[in-house]
Order: sequence, then structure tokens, then C-alpha cells
Amino acid sequence: MSKASMWSKNISFTNGELNLSGIPASQLAKEFGTPTFFLDEEAFRSRAIAWRDGLKAEFGSNAGQVYYASKAFISTAVAHWISEIGIGIDVCTGGELAVALAGGVDPSMIEVHGNNKSLSEIDRAVSQGVKTIVVDSIFEIERVAASAKKHGVRQSVLIRLTPGIEAHTHESISTAHEDVKFGFSIASGAAWIAVEAISKLPELELRGVHCHIGSQIFGTEAFEIASDRLLEFMARYRDAFGVELPELDLGGGYGIAYLPSEVTVEPADVLPAIGTAVRAACAKYALQLPLISIEPGRNIVGPTMFTLYEVGTVKDVVIEDGSIRKYISVDGGMSDNARTALYDAEYFACIAQRTSTASTTQSRLVGKHCETGDIIIRDIQLPSDVVPGDLIATPATGAYGRSMASNYNHVPRPPVVAVIDGNARVIVRRETEADLLALDVAEM
Ligand SMILES: *Cc1c(COP(=O)(O)O)cnc(C)c1O
Repeated sequence: MSKASMWSKNISFTNGELNLSGIPASQLAKEFGTPTFFLDEEAFRSRAIAWRDGLKAEFGSNAGQVYYASKAFISTAVAHWISEIGIGIDVCTGGELAVALAGGVDPSMIEVHGNNKSLSEIDRAVSQGVKTIVVDSIFEIERVAASAKKHGVRQSVLIRLTPGIEAHTHESISTAHEDVKFGFSIASGAAWIAVEAISKLPELELRGVHCHIGSQIFGTEAFEIASDRLLEFMARYRDAFGVELPELDLGGGYGIAYLPSEVTVEPADVLPAIGTAVRAACAKYALQLPLISIEPGRNIVGPTMFTLYEVGTVKDVVIEDGSIRKYISVDGGMSDNARTALYDAEYFACIAQRTSTASTTQSRLVGKHCETGDIIIRDIQLPSDVVPGDLIATPATGAYGRSMASNYNHVPRPPVVAVIDGNARVIVRRETEADLLALDVAEM
């Protein structure tokens, strides 16, 4: 098959067999088992570098930081690559902070998010000396200040704003319209109350403003509107306090291809338009160009992994219109890919270890969980000769795949195997039944 952009850079197809960095899918399955997430390490590194260099190219000395959004996928190996590449990382829980630190990320490269950070998460972040905490409520402003006072430091903070924009994505991943749990609303006045509260606390240094307008966004219009609203707010700050805030963080959300018909957003597709919008708004409000930071998650890691499954059963089911739907069951499911059930996300799949010349038939790719909604791909045309033992690959599962994986039905979560230069190595091992049982406190 021809290669569409949902497959990562170092994937090729030889005689119908998928290869990653020259290693055939059948060999990967034999060595590491299925289901497994395979990560194209070189592709990951080059995507992270492209965002780093793209931000620099667009904003020069006003390039702030690229923060990799670790919730998309994080492990100590990935944290290590991130620090080698020299970009920052955003974490939104104590767990993500722990992995970043264990992977050797310098706290001065860490930004802390979250709408309900616990007291201990705040205290760990402050005592570790993280670069910035993005404050999300009035309570949190006081909590961060108290922790900074206790540790005798002045903590730099950004304030998360909701600029009131509907980015055109699924509701649960669209975050910056008004009726959401995140941030301070500009329109309602909450944002201004927060700014005044911060200004009265000498333990806090307000470095700037932040927004994250959603996820899986294509086009630049939402970023352009957000830039304008945030810079207008920064001008209001300047008018009231007589100084300009030095940083504007526009969050993440850059879309990727999941289907053959889709195209992944590249830094050069969006950063120039964002640059133009930011400069226009600065001119409009008579502001200096601030440092511009961004937080891509999905766009860096999403395209760099695929999931490899093995088919266990196939079943022809006569459906309402009298036609036949082939149910193809693989050895994973909603426990390793929650996005179809959660967001009606769409994925592509193909047979990974052989060519098929059979005609295609309407198929549904399902998992092994005891639930009707355990669907990986609701509707897909797949060759009619798929049989048990075939390997199935689903591309673009790097973001919110392993990171949202669960143990539903006590299924151990799959490993992540990084492949580079023809070498494959486990970076997150497969969970075992012993791992799962280790949590049980037996009373016998
Ligand atoms: C989720 C999130 C991101 C990353 O979003 P992507 O769509 O993966 O790029 C960035 N910033 C914040 C605050 C987020 O919550």
C-alpha cells in the first residue's frame, strides 16, 4: 500500500509487510508480543526538533519555550529525549512531574498545569523549583503563594485564561469556550480579579498569560482570535500596572492525521500565521512582542507510534440492512485505545504482515473486552480474507493511547517499544498479572 501521512517517517511497506526502521512487523510481533505500541524514535525526535526550531525561526529572540505536553505520552526515556533536545515539558499531576524528574528533566524546564492541583503537588513543584506554575483558580493563587513563602522563594506563575473561543473540535477536547472547568474567564471579570490577587502577593511573580483552546485543531483562526484576546488583556494589565507582562503561552492542540485522507499539521503550516497574528495584535495594542511559548503534545508523539495487534476471531454478522458486517476481534481494545469510545475518534487499520488481493468488505475492528462499546474502528473496509493470526496495525496511536490505557477486565497494559536505526528496545514494559495482583490486599 502507498504510504499516507498517518504513518511515521521510518515506516515502509515491503511486499505488503509493514517495516519500522527496517524491522518487519512479523519480527516485531514475535519478539515483543501483541498488543504493543511501537514508537519511531527518530520521528519523535525530529518532530520535537521541528517545533523547537520552528518557534525560534518565527520569533527569534522572542521565542519562549516549546513545552511538550506530557499527558499525550510520557515515560522516563521520552523525558530524557525531551531534555536532550532542549525543549521544556508540561505536567499536570504529581505523577507526570515524578516521571519528568526521574527522566532527568531540569525543573527549570518544567511547567505545571492542572485545574485542581493538590497541596502536595503544589508544594513538590515549588520546592523542586519548577520554572512556572499555571494558576487556574483563586484558591490556587493563595496555595502557591503559601508554598513559596514556606520555601522562601518567589514562584513565577502564568495565569490561565479562557478567551471564549469554540475551536472546532469534539466538545470534551475543546477547552476555551466559557462553560468549562479550566481557567479564568476574561469576559466575566474573573481573570482581572485573579491578576489583582496575584499582584498583592509578593511571593508570586506574574510572568504572563496562558490559554489552551482545544485539541486536534486544524487551521489557524482559533489561535489568531486567542492571540488577539490575550494580548488585549496584556495591554489592560500594562495600562493598570505600568509594566508589560513578558510571556504569552498559546497552549497546544495542533492536529494530526488519523485517516489516509487527513494531513498532519506541521510547524511551518501554523507558526507563520500565529506570528503574523501576534505581531498585528501587538501593534494594535502598542505592546512589545512578548516571549511566545507553545505546548504541542499530540502533534509531537501522536504520529510516531502505531499499535500492533493479532487477530483472534472473525465473525460475519448480518446487520439491519441485510448486509454482512465482519467483526474482527484483536487482542487489545478499549483498554489500549479509549479514544473511539470516548470521542468517537476515527482510526485506520491494515493487515501488517502480508499483502491481500481479496476484495474489501465492511468491517468493524473490536477488542476483547466484555462490552459492546469496545470498538477500535467502527467502520472500515478491510480485505475479506482477514483470518486469526493476522497482524493488524493501527497508525497514529502515540498520543492519548498508552497514556489513557486502563486495566479494564484486568487486562495488563501493553508495552511501548522504541525503534531507531534498526534496533528495537522496550521503554515501558508490558504489565503482568503479578503487577495487577500486587495492588490487591488479600484477606484470606
Ligand atoms: C492537553 C493540553 C495540551 C496538549 O494538547 P495537544 O492537543 O496534545 O497538543 C497543552 N496544554 C494544555 C494546558 C493541555 O491541557
